[in-house]
Amino acid sequence: MKLMKKTDKVTLLIIFFIFLFLGMSGYLYKANQHLQFYTKINLKLEKIILLDQDIRNFSKGINEFHNYDIIDKKVFDFQQELQQLTEQTTKLYPSDPVLQKQLTKIAASFLQLRDDIEYFKASNSALIGGGHFLFDLHRTINETDTVPLHLKNHVNETLFYLLRYTTSSYIDAKTIQLKINSISAQNDPLAQEYIDNFKTQSLMILHTLSSLKEVVQDIQNNPLHTLIQEFHKHIEVTFQENLFMERVVASLLFVFALLMLVILLVTHIFAVRTARLQLAINYAIEHSDNAIVITDIDKKITYVNEAFERTTGYSAKEVKGLNPNILKSDLTPLETYEQLNEKLEKAERWDGVFINKRKDGSIYYEKASIVPVKVGDEVVNYLAIKLDITDYIEQNKQIQQAASVFDNTVESIIITDPQGKIITVNKAFENIYGYTLEEVKGKTLHFLHSGYHDLQFYDELWDQLLSHGVWQGKFINKAKDGQLIPVWGTIKAVYDEKENLISFIAVQNDVRELESSQAKVNYLAYYDPLTELSNRTSFEEYLNHALSLASRHKETLALLFIDLDRFKIINDTLGHGIGDKILIEVTKRIKATLRESDFIARWGGDEFVIILENIRSHSDASTVAQNILNSLKESFVIDTHILNITASIGIALYPQNGEESATLISHADSAMFFAKEKGSNTYEFYTQQLSQKVQKRLEIEIELANALANHEIFMMFQPQYDLETRSIIAVEALVRWQNEKLGFVPPDQFIEIAEENGTIVELGYYIFEASCKGFVAMREAGVPLKHIAINVSSVQFRQSNLLERFADIMKHYNLTPHEIEIELTERFIFENTKENIAILKQFHDYGFKVSIDDFGTGYSSMSYLTQLPIDVVKIDKSFVDNIGNDKADEAIIKAIIALTSALGYTTVAEGIETESQEHFLQQNGCNIGQGYLFSRPLSTHALIEQFAEQSS
Ligand code: C2E
Ligand code: MG
Ligand code: MG
Repeated sequence: MKLMKKTDKVTLLIIFFIFLFLGMSGYLYKANQHLQFYTKINLKLEKIILLDQDIRNFSKGINEFHNYDIIDKKVFDFQQELQQLTEQTTKLYPSDPVLQKQLTKIAASFLQLRDDIEYFKASNSALIGGGHFLFDLHRTINETDTVPLHLKNHVNETLFYLLRYTTSSYIDAKTIQLKINSISAQNDPLAQEYIDNFKTQSLMILHTLSSLKEVVQDIQNNPLHTLIQEFHKHIEVTFQENLFMERVVASLLFVFALLMLVILLVTHIFAVRTARLQLAINYAIEHSDNAIVITDIDKKITYVNEAFERTTGYSAKEVKGLNPNILKSDLTPLETYEQLNEKLEKAERWDGVFINKRKDGSIYYEKASIVPVKVGDEVVNYLAIKLDITDYIEQNKQIQQAASVFDNTVESIIITDPQGKIITVNKAFENIYGYTLEEVKGKTLHFLHSGYHDLQFYDELWDQLLSHGVWQGKFINKAKDGQLIPVWGTIKAVYDEKENLISFIAVQNDVRELESSQAKVNYLAYYDPLTELSNRTSFEEYLNHALSLASRHKETLALLFIDLDRFKIINDTLGHGIGDKILIEVTKRIKATLRESDFIARWGGDEFVIILENIRSHSDASTVAQNILNSLKESFVIDTHILNITASIGIALYPQNGEESATLISHADSAMFFAKEKGSNTYEFYTQQLSQKVQKRLEIEIELANALANHEIFMMFQPQYDLETRSIIAVEALVRWQNEKLGFVPPDQFIEIAEENGTIVELGYYIFEASCKGFVAMREAGVPLKHIAINVSSVQFRQSNLLERFADIMKHYNLTPHEIEIELTERFIFENTKENIAILKQFHDYGFKVSIDDFGTGYSSMSYLTQLPIDVVKIDKSFVDNIGNDKADEAIIKAIIALTSALGYTTVAEGIETESQEHFLQQNGCNIGQGYLFSRPLSTHALIEQFAEQSS
């Protein structure tokens, strides 16, 4: 849009320039025309003036003989010229009233002059004719003897006067008339006749002369000349003014045109420069190592560079017009896209990392910046600059993993890049030198230099390191607080398989520790470096010591075994760094609830043990246990995570539950398991639980032996829903036991016992068969089921012919293996990994679907998922329960779904009870849902009634 506007501007400029140029040319032409016209007018005027003069001069000689043709011609010419002048003037200055008026006056004066000239001509010819006659008379009179001399004189005098009167004005007509009248002849009749004639003729000439003189006077007084002069002056002024205006306008237009030309020239220069820059940019883009993608506002690809083609395997042709989400792998967290869209909607730049899929299906990490390209306020394109960072991520992951592995060591560990810049350091480094990782990341190790070593020392160190790949020796370094720290160090250069140097690892032992007292050594041997609590060794020593004291003083002692709930999955998904911080925080909270005299130790992992000496009753122990649970209630804020941590506590008492330390520990541990079974976040005493459990267990065991024979066992089926279509897709078979004496016994209570006494084997075949039967019945009745999930206990897998028997039953019901999903608990995999995985593989290879039940509760690690021959992962109910309440659990769910779907497995969520849980799971890509929200487990009959489709 902006580009268009820019070209518009240039076009406008050019059009404007052309107009100006045409305008200027027009004006110049007009000025030239004007000048020519004016010159013509001027010439005409000059002619007119000359003619006017000629005409007037003509009238001066009144008694002369004139060639009237000449004067007529001049008058005619004058008239012609005047007419042309009028026309041209009107043409040139059509709306100048003064000029028009002047021309009218000139025309009027000219007409007057012409009349006068006509009159003059007539009088003049009369005078000339009359004059000749008078001369003849005068000669006749003078030659006539009868005329007296005085009369002759009189006649001559009169003639003389008349002649004088023609040329001068000092004799007036009256005097001449008197003279004429005074001539009189008396006697001679001939003389008298002559005299009379002469008198008559003289008087006539005198009269003609007088009027001629008058007309000459009129001609001379005619204002034509002045009028022409005035006209000339006025037209000159008008012309000058007009010409000046035209010149001004033309000059202005010229200046503007010049300005336009300059602007165009500058624009052109810029355009050329921009074009050159554009070429350079194009070259840079084309050959950049970064993949570059340009999309239009509809997010359709309009351009990709070579790096993109190299990275993704797609050619530019293939992707043109497509949406970049062809690269989507489903491994990128949904939030990433949410954040991206949010930013782009606000027309802001977004930076982040995608986990994308190449054309060949391989996954790669991509660091991307996506920038909206704006013209004015309008987004016209999106520009994505991307860098394949898979190698870097992998390398970094390894380095980070290496560093976290070393986090529990007492040696300071520093990992740098090949330039010696710190990538990471471990906890011990932070402890020894007082710097945090954030403070030193990216720096070289200069800040540790104490000044103790000279340059040669460091030169030799580098020589040795680069030539042999390793250096060992003693340093004196400087801590943050200025303290000098002697260390023994090993620096190792790390190379990748292509012999490229990737990093240096420096491991340093704080020699002060070695040199200091034995107590320090003891500390390391007896304390857990992370939580600074006593470790297992010192706990066992202390417990033995405390037990002997208790025995001696006949005191009661309580042993509390604490295990954090679902800590493992938090550790796996959020990282060991977070896990460590949780452990430190949990330690602090637990310690705060204890007395000075209580002994606490870290048993290992997320397990803690506490010794309460000399307690009055078991309620003292329950108070402490409850206090501990309460202390954990408040959410933990670790970095950006808000986590809810609970614990399960088992309590064993001395001497009631055992006198040996090993027995007490194992009983407290079992009690802890009971607590976990009860649903976690609680405590259990060993004694109570045991007695009740044992009692109940015995009863169950006895009744269970005949349950099958008595037809007390039956199956219920719980629908599983496709979360996308929200319709039933499968069922899970759940066993039910209704006993006369015990009533309804939930499977949680009897399956474990059946497993322990082996009843599960027969029960298992019955369950499998009853499930197949139910499945066929339901499907035939029109329930649209794709498969059935059947729980299989790990004990059943010990039967070597299990696969065969299952296959037989399955065939009997005309089912195919992919219609059957075998549900296993995580424990199965945990118990006997190698063997069980081999069996599992057989089932999987045969075509059965394999599902891991209750995933995330205990033993499973995310990393198992990548190694197992499985098809389905069932997220445990306890996670689903926390949707909406616990961000960490939500993060774990997302991580499980992301990983399982990346591995091509199906994700099932169980125990969905609310719509918001369903919505969350559906939004995050969970495939199948099961829970009371959709349906409780139902009998075959009830299920058919509710779900059978009429038509089938
Ligand atoms: P499971 O395989 O994880 O089965 C799901 C359990 O969650 C079932 O309990 C089911 O009734 C319950 N459940 C499903 N949706 C909801 C819900 O929305 N809210 C709540 N609160 N619970 C829900 P059930 O039938 O008591 O079974 C308990 C466990 O016993 C099963 O857990 C499974 O491990 C075992 N089990 C049940 N039937 C069999 C069987 O035929 N063979 C074997 N080996 N184990 C079985
Ligand atoms: Mg199950
Ligand atoms: Mg389950």
